[in-house]
Amino acid sequence: METKLVRIDKNNIDAALVRAAGDVIRAGGLVAFPTETVYGLGGDALNAASSEKIYQAKGRPSDNPLIVHIADMEALAAIVREIPESAVKLAGRFWPGPLTMIFYKAELVPYETTGGLDTVAVRMPVDPVARELIRAAGGYVAAPSANRSGRPSPTVAKYVIEDLDGRVEMIVDGGDVEIGLESTIVDLTEEPPTVLRPGYITVEMLREVLGDVAEDRTMLRDDSGQAPKAPGMKYRHYAPKGELTIVDGAEQSVIEYINSRIDRHRRENKKTGVIATDTSVKRYRADVCKSAGDRRDEATVARELYRILREFDDEQVEVIYAESFDTDGIGQAIMNRLLKAAGHRIIHVS
Ligand code: AMP
Ligand code: MG
Repeated sequence: METKLVRIDKNNIDAALVRAAGDVIRAGGLVAFPTETVYGLGGDALNAASSEKIYQAKGRPSDNPLIVHIADMEALAAIVREIPESAVKLAGRFWPGPLTMIFYKAELVPYETTGGLDTVAVRMPVDPVARELIRAAGGYVAAPSANRSGRPSPTVAKYVIEDLDGRVEMIVDGGDVEIGLESTIVDLTEEPPTVLRPGYITVEMLREVLGDVAEDRTMLRDDSGQAPKAPGMKYRHYAPKGELTIVDGAEQSVIEYINSRIDRHRRENKKTGVIATDTSVKRYRADVCKSAGDRRDEATVARELYRILREFDDEQVEVIYAESFDTDGIGQAIMNRLLKAAGHRIIHVS
């Protein structure tokens, strides 16, 4: 398939291009597009065949449900069985934005979109290109992250093209994303509402609105006895090709430990890499040392993390060590993704 590549400036949206992209989706085709979290791979959420195409294009297991993206609150009622009070409150505070809510699905939503579940995940993104595209596509766009299954989610168009060129009808390049990690997922069919995937909207922010909010136990632990409630969270995800290990502890000990490991890997002729932060990056001896950002402003780390993981692949790094991050605020989402990328390999040094 020939993939059409178009560039849309989110500050000056070309309506004709958006209409063309919307027409592709209406006709049952796929369009990759930017959102504020990561790039999405969009198809008509109400068309079973479109959802099947999404799974194929990604190489994604078909029991891993898709998030349905809407552009306005009026669109919600048609795809869910009921709208609980909690959803109205959360939408009032966090929509449009990086929060996905899970509802019981209405009949209109095909099981192909929900991975066979009776529930449906819904998000209203804030990115203006995404919103215009959703409207142009008929109002309901199923969109997982626009990567091949198992790879880090794309935060820049370059990596969407790398993964999906030839597999989708169109790729919309809308520049770099703002947040860089996938949305927070909260399940409103559970009592109390339960966070299944941490993201930019933290559990504390949800509690401010709802009071009692639970967290899925598997979010930060490798609880192999327990299946995560979001089916997608059980797969090895976000992974770079090199072997990634997280090292946690006091800064000086972490640096010494990682450097000693690097010396050893070098003797084995392995190409080495480190995911550091602004203040530590110069102190490592690896072949490729990258700062993920400023430790005091973890939003910078969230934005850079997936791009950096991809760059280690580009540079064919074979062994990667990452510093660890605090798990308050967005740090919880960073560590959740990093732990998955590392297959839960974490070493504590004192
Ligand atoms: P992605 O679109 O790549 O960000 O992945 C979507 C995530 O949402 C996956 O982890 C899914 O398992 C999860 N998800 C989507 N729909 C549901 C649902 N109805 N119930 C639980 N988790 C869901
Ligand atoms: Mg994904």
